Amino acid sequence: MDKQQEFALRTVEERDVRFIRLWFTDVLGTLKSVAIAPAELEAAFEEGLGFDGSAIEGMTRVSEDDMIVKPDPSTFQILPWRGGPQGTARMFCDVLTPEGEPSLGDPRHVLKRSLAKAKEKGFTFYVHPEMEFYLFEQQTDWSKAPTPIDEGGYFDHVPRSPGMDFRRATVNMLEQMGISVEYSHHEAGPGQNEIDLRYADALTTADNIMTFRTVVKEISLERGIHASFMPKPLADAPGSGMHTHLSLFEGDANAFYEAGQEFNMSITARQFAAGILYHAAEICAVTDQYVNSYKRLWGGNEAPSYICWGHNNRSALLRIPQYKPGKGNSARMEFRALDPVANPYLAYSVLLAAGLDGIEKKMQLGEPTSDDVWELTDEERQAMGIEPLPRSLGAALKIMEKSDFVADVLGEHAFEYFLRNKRREWEEYNRQVTAYELKTYLPKL
Ligand code: GLN
Ligand code: MG
Ligand code: MG
Ligand code: MG
Repeated sequence: MDKQQEFALRTVEERDVRFIRLWFTDVLGTLKSVAIAPAELEAAFEEGLGFDGSAIEGMTRVSEDDMIVKPDPSTFQILPWRGGPQGTARMFCDVLTPEGEPSLGDPRHVLKRSLAKAKEKGFTFYVHPEMEFYLFEQQTDWSKAPTPIDEGGYFDHVPRSPGMDFRRATVNMLEQMGISVEYSHHEAGPGQNEIDLRYADALTTADNIMTFRTVVKEISLERGIHASFMPKPLADAPGSGMHTHLSLFEGDANAFYEAGQEFNMSITARQFAAGILYHAAEICAVTDQYVNSYKRLWGGNEAPSYICWGHNNRSALLRIPQYKPGKGNSARMEFRALDPVANPYLAYSVLLAAGLDGIEKKMQLGEPTSDDVWELTDEERQAMGIEPLPRSLGAALKIMEKSDFVADVLGEHAFEYFLRNKRREWEEYNRQVTAYELKTYLPKL
């Protein structure tokens, strides 16, 4: 029994916790949860808890369906919305095979593998996400466009909107769970909000994103509001992204910063950025995994559609703010394609691996683009060598399925499951006769 396990056991007793939820995710990043009684906790630490892996998307083939979840005691937290006496706690888990090996379908394990590769090279990978989401009035007919709870815009102070209280409640609850928040504000869309988490190592952040989504859903239920992370819920308003700031550290030093180099960017930073741009199209199905994700990417409003980088260019896929002397440790790059419904474990795995591949292959970073790439013509973009991101989930899958790189990062098992699931979604979508088609064609054809 290690110290963290002892701490969890002691807290359960002292705080009279009655349920301990064991959390893990499927290949899409859907949160899975099983509650155990306090008396079972010690055994769960030692042997784990068995479950039917074949019932979880991406976990196992049917023939080997017994899987085990083993709680990670460093993630022990009381759930504030189930707090008070007789409360509930949670821990994230690693998923193991019956032989005690890591499950190849466990996204947390996929990320741990990528992080281990970075560590071999002496790097720690830090990230911080900007979580955007909408608050809508509750509705029962899901085929209707949703109604935002206010008409506010970017940074608006909307005194009577329940949005302000909503953000406050969310931030408070996250802080109670040890998740630090840097900023929160109204975003550009009506009813749209943003909450930015403080940077942490990528595994902690991925866990925090899972918690974040749950907290937002809990608070919205409490308040009779419908909170949504859907990438593009309103055709004529901005989508919700999950811009993520990436940095590599070597010990205490930020490996992206080097005084005196162009833009004070180290060779490591340039190669890392080059790797991300190089692999951007093939990892796109992972960073933007739903049909609807592509409505955001191609809907303007500061979502990126083209593979390029810039310092202050908000239409660029990768924004690298100028590195300032004396502020070397905040040197980072902002990857802007991600949306808040990505599987954060897989998304951070492919981003890290893409950057490391750039370092390994000494990839060259081209010139930054300063124009709004949206304003250029296709010919101009072509002349500048700027390629588009995939236009649709279908296009993204086509590129991904040929990618040895993504297969290698995710592992064949997660790769196959992911593709199978997503192809199904794409086929299903294509079979639909949409409201648009009925409205456009039925009157005249
Ligand atoms: N909502 C925009 C997006 O979809 C981002 C807006 C911003 O934070 N600048 O990416
Ligand atoms: Mg922001
Ligand atoms: Mg924003
Ligand atoms: Mg941003």
